[in-house]
Amino acid sequence: MAKVQTITEEVYMIGGPDITRPEDCCVYLVETGDGMVIVDAGAGASVGSIIDNVRELGWPSRKVSSLIATHGHIDHVGGLYELKEKLGLQVIAHELELPAIEEGLSQLTADYLYGLKYRSVKVDLVLREKEAVLEIGGQKFHCLHTPGHTPGSISVYVDKGGERILFGQDIHGPFSRSWGSDRRQWRESMLRLLELEADVLCEGHFGVYRPREEVRAYIEGYLKRF
Ligand SMILES: [Zn+2]
Ligand SMILES: [Zn+2]
Repeated sequence: MAKVQTITEEVYMIGGPDITRPEDCCVYLVETGDGMVIVDAGAGASVGSIIDNVRELGWPSRKVSSLIATHGHIDHVGGLYELKEKLGLQVIAHELELPAIEEGLSQLTADYLYGLKYRSVKVDLVLREKEAVLEIGGQKFHCLHTPGHTPGSISVYVDKGGERILFGQDIHGPFSRSWGSDRRQWRESMLRLLELEADVLCEGHFGVYRPREEVRAYIEGYLKRF
């Protein structure tokens, strides 16, 4: 049985390799004054377990307002279609990921690598700016355009309970021409993330890093490697 993991008060991990299925990215949930916000959706087969975890956190008496998709790879968006349908949430993503998320181009979702078939989803709120600040239920979600792994990758941070929590999915790569990776852009994006001095890093596949020194060391480690 998949278990909710508490990261800080009001921030949880509700899916991921350790709690749902190995092919899932880490799926995070942030509580706000007006419903919950999910970051990424997993590869698809775990939607039932993810919804069980959302239920444990108060749904349906508490609504799920939105799901922020950090980029269009299948391990992050495979569950989008069903989560949107079942939870009635709005999907938020960057404009440059629409060919993956809305058109479902296999080369961009990389679904063939997983032996899965992606189901396209309409994005309700399309981000175009370098930094968009969404205010949901009194909580600000800073969505930074951090291209590199994919052209429209975004990283999200929230300031909560005196800490800065960064959702940096797939900031470790990998890189491939087939889905439009760009290492020069990636490097700039990583430097931008370092400037945030986040206290907690909620990573896409390897879990949670803290305190601030560990977050820095994690990002710098990849900068050295590539
Ligand atoms: Zn990815
Ligand atoms: Zn991933």
